Amino acid sequence: MTKVARPRKFFRNTLISISRVTNVLLGVFILLFAIMSSFSYIQLKETEATYERISSEVLPTLASSGLLHSQISALAFLVSNFAQSSSLPEVRINESQVLEKLSEIERLLADNNPLHSDLETIKSEFAALTVSTRETFQHSRQESQLIEQVNQLRANSVIDTSMTEDNLQAIYSLEAAISQLSSAEKLIDLRRYERAIKSNFNMLLGSPQIPQNTNQYLTELQSLVVGNKGLSRVKALQLRGRARAAGQSNFLRRFILDIAKGAEFSSYQFAEQQSALASEFARDAARKHSYTLMVYAATFAIGLALILFIKSRVVSRIIGLNNYLNSSKTDNTGHYGEKSNDEIGALARTIAEQFEVIDKQKVELTKLSFVDSLTKVGNRRAFNEHIEQIIPISKRNKISVSVLLIDVDCFKQFNDTYGHMKGDECLYKVAQVIEQNARRGTDFVARYGGEEFVCTILGHTEAQAYEFAEKLCDDIRALAIPHSESVAADVVTVSIGLHTETDVNENSIERLIQRADTALYRAKTQGRNQVCKYSHSS
Ligand code: GH3
Ligand code: MG
Ligand code: MG
Repeated sequence: MTKVARPRKFFRNTLISISRVTNVLLGVFILLFAIMSSFSYIQLKETEATYERISSEVLPTLASSGLLHSQISALAFLVSNFAQSSSLPEVRINESQVLEKLSEIERLLADNNPLHSDLETIKSEFAALTVSTRETFQHSRQESQLIEQVNQLRANSVIDTSMTEDNLQAIYSLEAAISQLSSAEKLIDLRRYERAIKSNFNMLLGSPQIPQNTNQYLTELQSLVVGNKGLSRVKALQLRGRARAAGQSNFLRRFILDIAKGAEFSSYQFAEQQSALASEFARDAARKHSYTLMVYAATFAIGLALILFIKSRVVSRIIGLNNYLNSSKTDNTGHYGEKSNDEIGALARTIAEQFEVIDKQKVELTKLSFVDSLTKVGNRRAFNEHIEQIIPISKRNKISVSVLLIDVDCFKQFNDTYGHMKGDECLYKVAQVIEQNARRGTDFVARYGGEEFVCTILGHTEAQAYEFAEKLCDDIRALAIPHSESVAADVVTVSIGLHTETDVNENSIERLIQRADTALYRAKTQGRNQVCKYSHSS
């Protein structure tokens, strides 16, 4: 059996493995896909967390700090409204509004907010302002009552015009000073009018020329104006209280406005901080987004490369290989034109080599089918083909064709005497002798059947052919294979029927064989161990 070379062993060492390339590409693809998925997942989670923080933390804080600022500003307005109250009922209404706003603000503040202590200060300052304001209104009412009493006293008084001009003048200037004191708005003016009034009283009440009724009037007036609970004292208390209330309300308003500004500033700061965080997040998201896009692009490229690689290096070549197998087409070197150094290339080369082996085996088999296995000369089929081929050629070239039918004599007896094995050996030796004699290229030998052979020789005259047959007969006899039961001799002999045609045509095949057979029959009947050529008489 023909030994087929195994190309795979050679290729295994230098193989550019498709499976390795595919595995690497697939591995990279899966890795990139995993990176891409985790990038997207992390980004989504971060975005979700940020939105959650904004909605649960940032927006409410921004909204409450904005509200806080507006409430504190409203408080400042209410406090200044309170300070401008013109009556005690108004004081009560404005006070309740301020207290209500304070508790609203308090509700807005988280427990840990430092503004709580500021609110406590506002509360205590406002309480003090409330006290001062109420006292101012009480003093104001007392002042009004005292002014009313003074006016009443003056209206009812009778000034004795018989008094000296100086005293009259002093009374008039006293009354004028009392009027000025009543309408004084500054403590310093009040003190000045008070001093003037006191000196006038001292002068008038110390004068002996003041009549009794006028003296009584002046004494009462003195008690109402500069007495212990007189107008001057009440007025001083009222002015002092008003100044204190104004100071307290100013302080309070400024303090509240400062807090409002502070709240506004911290709200602004928080908004700034959040806006910075938001822009940082946006930048970070954009950066991650571009990374993700890059990974997306790389994954896509690797995936595409994988598909193209499989398409070009695997699918299309497998299709080509399949087409090759279907059509058994070969290139001009007799091989399928696959030269790649990988699995498919190796497979294609193995297949091509197998085809070569099959082709060789085909030739061998064809050859074998034309050879007789026992005698190793051509068989009956080979003879049929051969005679079909040589007749037209001989006809064209006017070459004579001689057919010799060679039959072993008394072979049945040989078998019976020496056994079938010896019979086979004998047939082989006879065939070899015939073949050794038919040495020319145009000579042909075949086993015609059983112990009968056929030989064709071209270009011989009948005499030459006869000579050739005679020599054959002699050579076989010369083998000296003992045959004790033969009627022809004590060795193996053959009988040969010969026919030569010099002018062959389409009918010659049948005629040649038939006539050679007729001649053979004659050789047998004439005693065997001889050559007979065909003659018309036979
Ligand atoms: P004749 O001289 O008239 O030719 O007589 P014969 O005995 O040779 O002829 P016959 O036709 O009676 O017998 C032929 C014998 O050849 C019969 C058969 O057993 C034998 N034979 C045919 N083929 C083979 C073979 O392949 N090997 C052997 N050993 N014997 C064969
Ligand atoms: Mg025979
Ligand atoms: Mg015979």
